[in-house]
Amino acid sequence: MNDLDSRYDYDLIVVGAGPVGENVADYATKRGIRAAIVESELVGGECSYWACMPSKALLRSGHALRAAQRVGGAREALGGRIDADAVLARRSAFTDQWKDDGQVAWLESAGIDLIRGHARLAGPHRVSVGDRTFTAKAVALATGSVPFLPPVPGLDAANPWGTREATSADHVPPRLVVVGGGVAGTELALAFSSLGSHVTLLSRGALLEQEEPFVGEYLAASLAAEGVDVRLGATPARVDRDTNGVVSVQLADGTVLQAEEILVSTGRRPNTSDVGLETVGLTPGAALTVDDTMLVVGTDWLYGVGDVNGRALLTHQGKYQARAAGEAIAARLQGTTLSDGSWGWHAATADHRAVPHVVFTDPEVASVGLTEARARAVGLNVRAVEYDLGWVSGAKLHADGYSGRAKLVVDEDRQIVVGATFVGQDVAELLHSATIAIVGEVPIERLWHAVPSYPTISEIWLRLLETYGRPEAVIATASEGRDLLTVS
Ligand SMILES: Cc1cc2nc3c(=O)[nH]c(=O)nc-3n(C[C@H](O)[C@H](O)[C@H](O)COP(=O)(O)OP(=O)(O)OC[C@H]3O[C@@H](n4cnc5c(N)ncnc54)[C@H](O)[C@@H]3O)c2cc1C
Repeated sequence: MNDLDSRYDYDLIVVGAGPVGENVADYATKRGIRAAIVESELVGGECSYWACMPSKALLRSGHALRAAQRVGGAREALGGRIDADAVLARRSAFTDQWKDDGQVAWLESAGIDLIRGHARLAGPHRVSVGDRTFTAKAVALATGSVPFLPPVPGLDAANPWGTREATSADHVPPRLVVVGGGVAGTELALAFSSLGSHVTLLSRGALLEQEEPFVGEYLAASLAAEGVDVRLGATPARVDRDTNGVVSVQLADGTVLQAEEILVSTGRRPNTSDVGLETVGLTPGAALTVDDTMLVVGTDWLYGVGDVNGRALLTHQGKYQARAAGEAIAARLQGTTLSDGSWGWHAATADHRAVPHVVFTDPEVASVGLTEARARAVGLNVRAVEYDLGWVSGAKLHADGYSGRAKLVVDEDRQIVVGATFVGQDVAELLHSATIAIVGEVPIERLWHAVPSYPTISEIWLRLLETYGRPEAVIATASEGRDLLTVS
């Protein structure tokens, strides 16, 4: 250490040991940076214990059962009902019974110091945890996001479930009202319905409104077919829980629903209210405004990575930002070259162009890049093509009566894909091919030579490209006239 170094306890202090904070610290440490990470709850964060992992574990058994039911021959071998207790136990195994020993051991092995407690900035380069204050050349806030509770009379007092209570539930309520038709709301509505709850899903508008319009339609129909009572355009006006524990939810139209639990999943906000932002001239509660290296704008030492910057509330995208930030912090502290231009090693450029996300409902929803409407809104000259996944041989084999749809949004001026959406059983694994096409800016002409195997669901790519036609002479005709296709 030189004289300057000795003024600081660490090169880097990361606040929040969720998936993002862990990766910032890890990537910086691998470059020789001395890092500590502060965690107020469990090392591993929301994703490991109350979000991605437990929610997907709650969904997976129902998916597997439905998949078998959709294949003649396998269907006949099935009998009985889903074992909800076994599903809850499997979920709990995925969360390590809400213990973080394994992740703490990993931090140790990675050479990252763990400081337990609630951290707050205490001025530039200073982080206080309880009555201790640490200094660091750089500080990265990776404190995630917290749920937003809508101001519905009686809701708070009714002790509603949030996503934490739902993903860590130790029982399946006989009746469950889910408020919120977004990702977590639709996933958890399906999960609990599969486990035996009678679920009513209330959505202010269409389901998954940010997606292509057909997505919400497919999902609403399939959730209804699975027994979920889907109510679109429905919002709670008042909530009460009686002395027997039964919750009454009065809707704006006067209808009253009753359930043992109400789950509220109506969005999240950056977790910046109590991290000392005011001590460095920033506004508590707001998302951190960052550049593509995750450096907070107006500072040269503070970073905001993951959910806390509001760019993309997804684990994989936050971890991508963390890789860029960890490397950028090391480069800046060590005075090595920074590659922070578009698509540079130290820049999270994909945040602006290609954020992939999967909704693990049934059908799954997988999309990346821009929807057609969004592309037009940002001024791109696009043409979109759609195709019915049910016509693809691989899909027909995959499940009897396979139902789904896919859409590509093509930038006509550059002849590259800028958006892709798939809805259907097990389409999640199709998504990465679209992400590569978008990030790689692969020309349509060259995509034509990426031949999907027969008979796989990936043949949807061939069908979409056929539908799009040759770039210089668009041919929008259906092969053999039997395929359902749309050119818009
Ligand atoms: C129900 C649900 C399901 C989801 N499913 C998926 C999915 O399938 N795939 C996906 O990509 N994303 C999913 N997400 C989103 C994903 O969980 C988040 O994007 C991800 O957890 C963000 O990681 P993070 O590290 O930024 O924040 P977090 O995981 O929230 O971690 C932040 C950490 O900081 C700690 N912390 C906060 N403040 C302080 C402080 N002042 N001092 C010390 N420590 C502090 C917290 O205790 C926490 O451990 C889901 C979210 C929900 C709610």
